[in-house]
Amino acid sequence: MKANCWTGRNTVEVQNVPDPKILNARDAIVRITSSAICGSDLHLYDGYVPTMKRGDILGHEFMGEVVETGPEVGDLAVGDRVVVPFPIACGACAACENGLFSVCENSNPNAAMAEKLWGHSPSGIFGYSHMLGGYAGGQAEYARVPFADVGPIKIEDDLPDESVLFLSDIFPTGYMGAEMCDIKPGDVIAVWGAGPVGLFAVASAYMLGAERVIAIDRFDYRLKKAREQAGAETIDYEKVNVLEALAEMTGGRGPDACIDAVGMEAHHHVGPIHAYDRAKQATRMETERPHALREALIACKNGGTVSIIGVYGGLMDKFPIGSVMNRSLTIRTGQCHVQRYLKPLLKRIRKGEIDPSFVISHRMSLDDAPRGYDMFKHKRDDCTKVVLKPFSSAAYGTPRPSGGGA
Ligand code: NAD
Ligand code: ZN
Ligand code: ZN
Repeated sequence: MKANCWTGRNTVEVQNVPDPKILNARDAIVRITSSAICGSDLHLYDGYVPTMKRGDILGHEFMGEVVETGPEVGDLAVGDRVVVPFPIACGACAACENGLFSVCENSNPNAAMAEKLWGHSPSGIFGYSHMLGGYAGGQAEYARVPFADVGPIKIEDDLPDESVLFLSDIFPTGYMGAEMCDIKPGDVIAVWGAGPVGLFAVASAYMLGAERVIAIDRFDYRLKKAREQAGAETIDYEKVNVLEALAEMTGGRGPDACIDAVGMEAHHHVGPIHAYDRAKQATRMETERPHALREALIACKNGGTVSIIGVYGGLMDKFPIGSVMNRSLTIRTGQCHVQRYLKPLLKRIRKGEIDPSFVISHRMSLDDAPRGYDMFKHKRDDCTKVVLKPFSSAAYGTPRPSGGGA
């Protein structure tokens, strides 16, 4: 089959690879009809996540049709249409029983690698480094889905792929980011990053009762989307001082809660602290780009919550713990526990409360994945979200025969 593979820093390549096979009784094989490129994939592409190997199949946001099931996958049948959540979770460990699926204790066969870096291991994730399980991802024609009796949600035929695909990750992630803010009527929420995750955080904050949501970014086309399609007020951080603007917009108090939807590759302003970070990063003594998170922590009102859904990997310098402690801030974070949100968010889509396809800017064939990565990374051509269609032909790019695989 064809699959989009990591081949080194800033390169991906569509290669012919062996078809996946059922390895365990609870596996299923899914023929992928839609698969997306995520901001988290950029951290791999840009070389920020260790333990990637040449030839690793990328992709953790996918859906498709079940073509084979292991003997213990009772609920799914061949032909079922499913969306697959990005964290791989057993459904029965202490973490899963508490709804903490992204820290499942049974799905990372390489837990020891993660423990070295983080103390304890989170769950495995599709297509997301050897440290997180070394699982083949879903930017491919087919994928093996472990614990298929727990993760995938069945989708009825009347809902198009594009309306439900993002249940695999970014809609639940944005929603969890907002949920962690414990929003009360009248609250003002600020969201750093108007990428797809930030856009879902904005939309979800309104769903959960926020009165005003303010999105912060530097790309005008993304801020426009945040305003026009998610109802946010916006701040362009290259044009105004974010802390001053937020203070002014909130009567001097600061937002009730702040969501970091940027993560480890935050873009920096100039200034002495930037020079300091650059020096520490050059010697690998600091691995993160801390600008957005520091700003969110400083901006938040006294007693407020800072919800971190942007992905971080290692160490951050000049973390303003004094501001957090003395001002009674709460920090909440996590890879999204997607399985928890599948049913309730599918219900919201079904009721027409949201159509997640509003974030999509580009549709491409799987063969075009390298172009999609380059465009999404550099935010070219007003790129917000790329959806790859492994089995489409003429409509999205170079015609080619479909098929292959199981
Ligand atoms: P993206 O790259 O499309 O969006 C990031 C946005 O942040 C960009 O628009 C960028 O201009 C903006 N940005 C950069 N520096 C900034 C700054 N200093 N201030 C304000 N905005 C700034 O990525 P995405 O797909 O939207 O993902 C966003 C983050 O969410 C990534 O770190 C990704 O890994 C993470 N993520 C987390 C989870 C989870 O489960 N927690 C799931 C999916 C994605
Ligand atoms: Zn993702
Ligand atoms: Zn588990």
